[in-house]
Amino acid sequence: MKIMPNRMDRGFYRYQEEFEKKALDVLRSGWYILGRELEAFEEEFAAYTGAGYCVGLGSGLDALWIAFRILGIGPGDEVIVQGNTYIASVMGVTINGATPVFVEPDAYFNMDCERIEEKITERTKAILVVHLYGQASEMGCIMEIARRHNLQVVEDCAQAHGAMYEGRQVGTFGDVGCFSFYPSKNLGAFGDGGAVTVNEKALAEKFRVFRNYGSEKRYYNQVVGTNSRLDELQAGLLRVRLSHLDEINEEKKQICERYLREIDNPLIRLPAIKESCTTVWHQFVIRCQCREELIRYLEEAGIGTIIHYPIPPHLSQAYRYLGIREGALPVTECLAREVLSLPLYNGMTREEQDAVIEKLNMFKRRV
Ligand SMILES: *Cc1c(COP(=O)(O)O)cnc(C)c1O
Repeated sequence: MKIMPNRMDRGFYRYQEEFEKKALDVLRSGWYILGRELEAFEEEFAAYTGAGYCVGLGSGLDALWIAFRILGIGPGDEVIVQGNTYIASVMGVTINGATPVFVEPDAYFNMDCERIEEKITERTKAILVVHLYGQASEMGCIMEIARRHNLQVVEDCAQAHGAMYEGRQVGTFGDVGCFSFYPSKNLGAFGDGGAVTVNEKALAEKFRVFRNYGSEKRYYNQVVGTNSRLDELQAGLLRVRLSHLDEINEEKKQICERYLREIDNPLIRLPAIKESCTTVWHQFVIRCQCREELIRYLEEAGIGTIIHYPIPPHLSQAYRYLGIREGALPVTECLAREVLSLPLYNGMTREEQDAVIEKLNMFKRRV
């Protein structure tokens, strides 16, 4: 049996008829950008998350950089972000010329609240919270620090559609919630897509204008904007997926709960789950000190895995200019050496789950 880390085709076939019907409807409508599907999706996604408004954009990265641009954060400003995130979070900050200031993660792979305040300077303008792997960050504590220091809060919810902190959905706590609909995300499109959620109408309007060359009315441009519009085809297909999101998240949860119950190997550390959160299991991330050996062993058994992420942003070549040396973020760097994401996807069969569990339980060090 060959098991891949992800199988997006299974997610498609589960709702094949609905996706195909929607695609044909949109193709036949003759209207492909900024139309009814997008409007309907924005309303439905705002209602789903409990945010006041949603604005569809071209990608998750666009959601991030446009958010910082609209919040007025740029050169000379600092943004606090966790060290162990996908590099796109950081690019959302640096595209605008602002400087990321990295904080170490807690035991749940999210920003460690205890270590935020020591990083705040007079240049700090915002906190970028990443709800990594599907689990909500400590929003109570983070919002309290932000209020006390008068900082804006942007939430990177790219991996956490539907995740909750104390019963409230991510993307509704901060000034802006940024979502990605990259195909492998829990709410995935069939191409690129993204969105922001905001609570204020005036702020939503700014995103609507900015995504469309800075114009509300055609050929009357108020600001230098960009072209970043969630297209009608993706919006329509996302509406189909959104209508099933709770069951999509529930199915992943069932698989992960099995992993938690049945994987039992002293060489493998299972992910910690917070009681106060409803996690949506974007990834099931284990830790292993002999990770490279484990990867090879699983590969030989036909089981594919992925590392999210092998190089922390502060050590990537792209951010060498920040001048942060290796060893500066020991927790983050240790995670980069130890984390491993197990196969996890909708439509994963019982046999596939069995094989992953069994192989992991049989893993031993060779040396
Ligand atoms: C996927 C992802 C992004 C970027 O989204 P794109 O739609 O690929 O641009 C940003 N942040 C995190 C945490 C992500 O997982």
